[in-house]
Amino acid sequence: MSNVAHLTSHLSKEEGLLVEKAYRFAEDAHADQLRLSGEPYFTHLIGTATILAELGMGGTTIAAGLLHDTVEDQDVSIETLEREFGSEVAFIVDAVTKLGHVRYRGADKHNESLRKLFVATSEDIRVLLVKLADRLHNMRTLEYVPKEKQKRIATETLEIYAPIAYRLGIRKLNRELEDLAFPYVYPKEHEAMQKTLKQRRPKDQKGLEKFLRSVKKALAKQGITHVKTEYRVKGLYSLYTKLLRKEKDLEKIYDLSAARILVEKEEDCYQVLGIIHSTFRPLPGRIKDYISFPKPNGYQALQTTVFTGDGSIIEVQIKTFDMHKHSEYGIASHVSYKNNKIGADKETIAWINSLLPKAGKHSAPHSHLADVPSWIRELVAYREDSEDVGGEDFFSHRIFAFSPKGDVVDLPLDSTTIDFAYAIHSDIGDHMQGAKVNGKLASLDTTLKNGDIVDIMTHSSAKPNKKWLDFAKTSTARRHIQRTLFKLSKRRT
Ligand code: MN
Repeated sequence: MSNVAHLTSHLSKEEGLLVEKAYRFAEDAHADQLRLSGEPYFTHLIGTATILAELGMGGTTIAAGLLHDTVEDQDVSIETLEREFGSEVAFIVDAVTKLGHVRYRGADKHNESLRKLFVATSEDIRVLLVKLADRLHNMRTLEYVPKEKQKRIATETLEIYAPIAYRLGIRKLNRELEDLAFPYVYPKEHEAMQKTLKQRRPKDQKGLEKFLRSVKKALAKQGITHVKTEYRVKGLYSLYTKLLRKEKDLEKIYDLSAARILVEKEEDCYQVLGIIHSTFRPLPGRIKDYISFPKPNGYQALQTTVFTGDGSIIEVQIKTFDMHKHSEYGIASHVSYKNNKIGADKETIAWINSLLPKAGKHSAPHSHLADVPSWIRELVAYREDSEDVGGEDFFSHRIFAFSPKGDVVDLPLDSTTIDFAYAIHSDIGDHMQGAKVNGKLASLDTTLKNGDIVDIMTHSSAKPNKKWLDFAKTSTARRHIQRTLFKLSKRRT
């Protein structure tokens, strides 16, 4: 039983027993199956479950992680899983299995996978977390997969899974997924980045170590001893995209590697900043207080960039242990927000409610949140509150609709086919004649639901009329309609 301990140590006895049972069941079900690496297939299930346990997930999700391939690979029925492990585990495995049929076949199919993923998330966030863990473990062992498949899987990882992990605030997963996929998708660019970094890293590393030693000494003099110092090297892929995005010059990227100083309390952070500035000269304009003013994704830290005195420049991040945990695992509010303004549960339930299919396909619509660690719940609530997406709460008031080609259009709740048309292009909106939603003819005032596939029909002679303003919910659509109506009226006079 000891080999299960690392999956259950954070769980209640009851939950631990569920995981142990799933462990034995999966081991047995996959007994004869091997991975491409030649290892027993079961290693993949332990790997997936371990990632989920490290994220702090509950017993139901970890059990589902262990069982997630039993239906697909071993013909275990959903009914059997339901009988043995309960309806929630069975539901998650079923949903993960269905997602498994999504296959990436180049750019045109890309959005179809994305669509299915978004819809799955809206039903139960745990499905997505199992899927992310499954993908991460597969990425860690991608070298054994046939070459022609590698690129497809890696591209899908880079374009779908890594951004979703980022969106959920799970930086740790996001970074690892990106860096594992990078060399398969952009081999040349990856090699070039590695080469460049190799030249800089040893120098950087030595400088950082020396810098951190002197910081520690200075802090100890002031009585700050419960300190952890470390340095982090920027993920290769994130560096690559940063170079693409703005600063083409590697020399100008100061956060290539950064010193990190972790302390117990918030006020210690400011004291540490003071001590550092009195020892090392800061670069002007690069001091940031993300503690008083957290980033929209909840990130908190003090940041500064200093001259080390031997010709190099180092970015320093100062934060509490809790803030750090949060930025790695998306623990938005575990401690720091717990007792103030955000009622995580209420907010989260509102969020889930808005995403759940209205018919209530699954019983106990909110119960799946019970298994999600509080930090994810709070994170979701926090991000909802803070994410600035056109001034609207992103998750609680948005839906995702799709063009027949699979393009994702995200719209505020209660948007209609007209809003969809204008979101795609003002010309499409202006010449809209009708629409099909999920293959069926729909009127211009049809309210869209999450996951709808919308086909806008246009005609060169079609044009907006005043009534459209009653149907349009988005400001984009209304603005365009008004403008076009104005133009039309002028033409007439
Ligand atoms: Mn799997």
